[in-house]
Amino acid sequence: MTTEALPPGAAFSTAAHTSAEQRLFTQANGAGLGDIAQKVLRNERLTYDDGLALYENADLFAVGALANHVRERLHGDATYFNVNQHVNYTNLCNRLCKFCAFQRLPGQEGAYLMTPEDAAQKITEQLDQPVTEVHVVGGVWPKLDYDYYLNLLRAIKTARPDIHIKGFTMVELDEIVKQAKKPIAEVLFDLKEAGLDSCPGGGAEVFSESVRQATYPHKMPGTRWIETASAVHEAGLYSNCTMLHGHVETPADRVDHLIKLRELQDRSLAKDGGHLQAYIPLSFHPDNSEMAHIEGPTALDELREIAVARLLLDNIPHIKAYWILMDIPTAQTALSFGANDVDGTVVEEKIYHEAGATTPQEVQREELVRWIEDAGRVAIERNTTYTAIGDSKGRFVDAEC
Ligand code: SF4
Repeated sequence: MTTEALPPGAAFSTAAHTSAEQRLFTQANGAGLGDIAQKVLRNERLTYDDGLALYENADLFAVGALANHVRERLHGDATYFNVNQHVNYTNLCNRLCKFCAFQRLPGQEGAYLMTPEDAAQKITEQLDQPVTEVHVVGGVWPKLDYDYYLNLLRAIKTARPDIHIKGFTMVELDEIVKQAKKPIAEVLFDLKEAGLDSCPGGGAEVFSESVRQATYPHKMPGTRWIETASAVHEAGLYSNCTMLHGHVETPADRVDHLIKLRELQDRSLAKDGGHLQAYIPLSFHPDNSEMAHIEGPTALDELREIAVARLLLDNIPHIKAYWILMDIPTAQTALSFGANDVDGTVVEEKIYHEAGATTPQEVQREELVRWIEDAGRVAIERNTTYTAIGDSKGRFVDAEC
């Protein structure tokens, strides 16, 4: 590790510091993170070695305090959520990722495939709720033809024309392109015409090729995930990004993954203003998978993931504590470790509950607001592309987040 501690008692050497910044520097320097604290306080980019040092430092609270400083510099107390629902249109999948408890093959117990009309019915069932977004993801099933995906989007938009469809991970898009037998730019044009508004961030797992070979060898490599995300951004669509952590990957794999996401956003910023909106660390849940012998991450591991991401991803505006995976108290704590978003009301999450998530499958808007306020933050409802549409009192604010 090349990161060096400054001498005990060293002071932050910028004239324009506040006493709070001086206290933060003293805490971080006491933990051996003095030079990283200098960079954070000067708003300088952290390096690969800094990332490793943040993962390996024993003092999680010093790491978290630095991340919280960045979170409050960017967003103050604001914590975003939305009113959304999930449609997992099929669990049929031939990628056979060893960590996945959701996938099924035809004939296996619990296998299902929704028709576009079934998916539209899920939307119709929520018409009395103020849902602004539907998150549409499923398994990768090559027997679904191109028209299936177009009809799925059209049926959802017909059922609720004003809903924002955040659909299809890069892995699903890769399969849709194969089915369409035409260039991805043309496919994205068709999908937008049919109703696609943005893309989620899943399916990236960890970009390390050795981790892929060991745990999900049939899924696209990280290089293609990045190429597909670039095409999505060039098509004018926003997306999120993720990393599946807490299984066989190393801290070096995680830093490498985060820096590749940062580079992707640098390229997007240069071309079109930056189309990665939020980063979401996804905690590995071992139950019911081929990797059930591996313990998943602890709450402290999850908090460190949030904090390191906030510090390394200096060009991605939002860090999400996904309450479905982290559990609610950990997500609340994460709001002081770098996170400024908790996702949404969700309604019928299937993928992580198959893997043993014990959180509810949905919450009411009022509960999300209460969790955020109990954590000492200000709850702000947003739409999918981070325009604020109301604060915790339900007042309309309509401003860029
Ligand atoms: S993680 Fe996704 S691609 Fe992998 S097996 Fe599960 S559903 Fe299929």
